[in-house]
Amino acid sequence: MKHIRAASLLPLALLVGTSAFAASPTTPAPGPARIVGSSEAGCIAGAVRLPDNAPGMQTIRLKESTFWGHPDVIRHLLDLARTAKAASLPDLYMNDISLPRGGPLAGVHASHQRGVDADVWLDVIGPHPVIPASEREFEPQTLVRADGRGIIPERWHPEHVTLIKLAANLPGVDRLLVNPAIKKQLCEVVTGDRNWLHKVRPWYGHTAHMHLHFSCPAGQTECIDQPPAPAGIGCDASLDWWFAQLDSPKPPPPKTPPPPPKPVVLPPACRAIMAAP
Ligand SMILES: [Zn+2]
Repeated sequence: MKHIRAASLLPLALLVGTSAFAASPTTPAPGPARIVGSSEAGCIAGAVRLPDNAPGMQTIRLKESTFWGHPDVIRHLLDLARTAKAASLPDLYMNDISLPRGGPLAGVHASHQRGVDADVWLDVIGPHPVIPASEREFEPQTLVRADGRGIIPERWHPEHVTLIKLAANLPGVDRLLVNPAIKKQLCEVVTGDRNWLHKVRPWYGHTAHMHLHFSCPAGQTECIDQPPAPAGIGCDASLDWWFAQLDSPKPPPPKTPPPPPKPVVLPPACRAIMAAP
């Protein structure tokens, strides 16, 4: 990707739509780590990149993915990979984190803007020998039935519990998103300590990967945290709600096409971060 001169980025830096990926600088903004804004609109300076290979992990889908994060988040992800390896899991496949300076990420749901969100594939059956970078462009396999009502039993393994529990218990993880069918499976099979299920929240998609969302790291006064997740482990009526949606009739398609989604307006402080040399 060609580096675009910073000055030409200004209008896009504040008002970016689906072209954000193409318009964003390809290097992090210099200086100490600094996160500005919320999950819906934010950016980061001083981001560091997850290495493509480290003990217990490999980055995946390099062509369309981006791996920049707050240094604490990158450190926690490397720790997750090491502990997963120590638990005899195969290499983790690490996917999108954030762009070098954050901002909206095309094709990915609203977060991933500030280096505190990371996607990790739920692929726990090895071996996962080191793949050459050019051959990492494959898709993960869904764990969820086509009707969305449960997992595919032959694709579910105890190692999924091991991995999701390790991730939920990582320092700084605020919540972890998986498909409602995966959450339901965890509610059914996890015994003993179930407190960590509080962090595992049901969300659309996420049938083949989990999304780790970290809280604002210490000292990041311009970083806005999400409201806390509801109390409890969530193996209750709040989970049933997701499956009830599958029963409701689909609304008819609108007669006129819906308006395009509103572009994300980044906080003013992101202007300097996007424009820094
Ligand atoms: Zn994600």
